[in-house]
Amino acid sequence: MLGRECPAAECKPKYFKVKPGTGQTDSSSMACPYCAQVGDPQEFSTESQRRYARDLVSREAQQSVSKLVDGMLRDAFGLRPGQRRKSLGDFMSIELTSRRPTPRLVTPPVEQQLRRDLVCPVCSVAFAVFGLATWCPDCGSDLFLEAVEAEFKVVRAMLGDVQNRRERLGARVAARDLENALEDVVSTFEAVARRLVHRRLLESGMPALDAEKRVKKCGNAFQSVSRATIASVDLVAQDVFAALDASERTELERTFEARHPVTHNAGVVDRKYLDKSGSLEREGHDVAVTTSMVTRAMELAIKALSDFHERLFPTS
Ligand SMILES: [Zn+2]
Ligand SMILES: [Zn+2]
Repeated sequence: MLGRECPAAECKPKYFKVKPGTGQTDSSSMACPYCAQVGDPQEFSTESQRRYARDLVSREAQQSVSKLVDGMLRDAFGLRPGQRRKSLGDFMSIELTSRRPTPRLVTPPVEQQLRRDLVCPVCSVAFAVFGLATWCPDCGSDLFLEAVEAEFKVVRAMLGDVQNRRERLGARVAARDLENALEDVVSTFEAVARRLVHRRLLESGMPALDAEKRVKKCGNAFQSVSRATIASVDLVAQDVFAALDASERTELERTFEARHPVTHNAGVVDRKYLDKSGSLEREGHDVAVTTSMVTRAMELAIKALSDFHERLFPTS
């Protein structure tokens, strides 16, 4: 894959990769998957690719000049490279040293490792990004939900191996895997909801810094179902969980709340968790995180986020 870098100064993290030969064959423009900046593909070359091109040109120039000088010395004095002295008849000799310059060392551009690979379902370009990308770099389609789905796919793969690891490594390792998977689901949900809110604020014309501040101000509200509802209504006048009915909300709330004893109390049920989740588990026992609980939380999270996405950015 070929490294690319968004030319927009304020774009973060700028860097992504595209697989040449995939996507639209006659693309004369490229879009940034992070900020949707559109431009000529040439403008998306990375700093190290530009340095490499400059180094190649200057090495070529150096070599041509050196060849030219060698030729002149040979023609004028019959002096070959490395030869130091040449007598020009009885009364005169010249001393010249002609050393070949050491050729410049040109190192090819270093491309970064990216772990998130995506394929656009619209134009089939294959690309890789840091974090959650929003746009297809080739056709410009909104791929945010595909990126979210790809994150959850990783969690599903981890869940798929839990039984295996329980047999090989024991019950505590399997329980930790489930707890980690739960934390991943909650933090992915939080990151996605915050990104959607942030984008909505930007598109409504709020300056970037203000939008960032507003999202920051809601703290970790999106880690909790009830607080996320309040925060999303407050920020963008839409409930992030509008697609869920009352029992689905309660179910998700309980699963999200199980993250607290996992993160703050070594996985042991405490009073605060029992109060907040309404769970019937017993204080002092290990919190019960199961594969089906985490899988279901992902289903509900996707359902809520797809609907939230559609309401914030209607396709038609
Ligand atoms: Zn960008
Ligand atoms: Zn595309």
